[in-house]
Amino acid sequence: MSKKVLLNVDYTNDFVADDGALSCGKPGQKIENFMVDITKIFIENGDYVVFAIDKHIKDDVHHPETTLYPPHNIVGTKGRELYGKLNDVWERNKNSNNVYWLDKTRYSAFVGTDLHLKLCEREIDEVHVVGCCTDICVLHTVIDAYAHGYRIVVHEKGVASFNQTGHTWALEHLKNCLNAEVVKGIDGL
Ligand code: ZN
Repeated sequence: MSKKVLLNVDYTNDFVADDGALSCGKPGQKIENFMVDITKIFIENGDYVVFAIDKHIKDDVHHPETTLYPPHNIVGTKGRELYGKLNDVWERNKNSNNVYWLDKTRYSAFVGTDLHLKLCEREIDEVHVVGCCTDICVLHTVIDAYAHGYRIVVHEKGVASFNQTGHTWALEHLKNCLNAEVVKGIDGL
């Protein structure tokens, strides 16, 4: 039987809340309950859960995103905290040994982090992905999961973007080019 991980990508106030610095807005807020439900299921089943969260330093002029976006997910700010009820799930479970907070500094959760090592140590071969944005950090994370040979499941009710065209395109790309299974529900987990 496959061992699996849930990658919770960038579901923070800056990416989801109305006053977030780089918010998906309503599409992001709509997936809150699904994010909470699937995260609880993974934790309660004893599966590994990784909160892969964008990390930026204030006034970091060398970071490539500096010229692309306004400042976001700055260390120590409310904007970098998880959005809504997902933050409660994190707070309640952050000391569990199957829950891991992963600071990432690029779109992909695999770039410059120990994620692949953590998954190898646990013999995890199946990566489930939720979060935002579908066409940016989710997409780039899945590209690297694909390159590393993981089986990939993307939960359609658990991904969102500020860009609906990008969201729809990314779901097709995930399926057709990255061999991801894009599923709607959470039955059978
Ligand atoms: Zn960023």
